[in-house]
Amino acid sequence: MTKKQFRAESKRLLEMMINSIYSQKEIFLRELISNASDAIDKIYYKALTDESLSFNKDDYYIKIIPNKDNRTLTIEDTGIGMTMEELETNLGTIAQSGSLSFKKENEMKDGQDIIGQFGVGFYSSFMVADEVTVITKSLGSDSAYKWQSKGADGYTIEACEKDEIGTKITLKLKDNTEDDSFDEYLDQYRLKAIIKKYSDFIRYPIKMDITEK
Ligand code: ADP
Ligand code: MG
Repeated sequence: MTKKQFRAESKRLLEMMINSIYSQKEIFLRELISNASDAIDKIYYKALTDESLSFNKDDYYIKIIPNKDNRTLTIEDTGIGMTMEELETNLGTIAQSGSLSFKKENEMKDGQDIIGQFGVGFYSSFMVADEVTVITKSLGSDSAYKWQSKGADGYTIEACEKDEIGTKITLKLKDNTEDDSFDEYLDQYRLKAIIKKYSDFIRYPIKMDITEK
C-alpha cells in the first residue's frame, strides 16, 4: 500500500493542528459532529427527490463511543458515507472544504485566531489525536474503505469491511503531557458537556452509551 502526501495547503493546516497549543482543543468534537450531521442531511435531501429512498428518522443518528482501554474516541454516523474518490478529495485536500478561508496567506499567520473564528473542519481531530482512522461506505456502493493518517506525513486508503452505510471516525488520542491531558475526551460526562455546549442545535440524535461509575 502506498502512502500518499497531502496537498501543500492541507499539510500546513495539518501541521498547525498537530502543533496547536490552542486552549479549546475540544472544538474538534463540534467539527466531527457537524460533518456527521451534514452527511445525514445529504441522505435526507436525496430522499426528498428520490422516490426509491425513504428517510426514516429513527435510522439516522450520530454515536460517540469512548474506549478507555484503547484510548480511542469514535464518532459514528449513518450518513451518506464516502466513495474512495471522495475520501481522496475530501480528506486529502482542504480545497473542497468550507475551511477554504484558510487559504489566504495573511490569515495563516496567526493560527490561533483562525481556529477560534472559523470552522476548522476535519483536520482539527489532529489537535487531540496522533492517528485518525476513517472507515466509510457510501450510499449505493458495495465497497467500504479505510482512510488512515498519523498526520502530516501522509495518508493511506485501502478496501475494508463495513456493513452499514455511513462513516466511522476513530481518534487514537495523544499521550498525556505535563501540560495537556487528553484523557478528558474519554470521560462520558466531559463529552456530554462538550456536546451540550457546541452541538445542542444538531437535528439528529447524538447517542452515547452511559456506563455506571
Ligand atoms: P467542511 O465540512 O467545511 O466541508 P471538513 O474539513 O469538515 O470541511 O470536511 C471536509 C469534507 O469531508 C466534507 O465536506 C465532506 O465532504 C467530507 N466528510 C467529512 N466527514 C464526513 C462524514 N462523517 N461523512 C461524509 N463525509 C464527510
Ligand atoms: Mg466540516
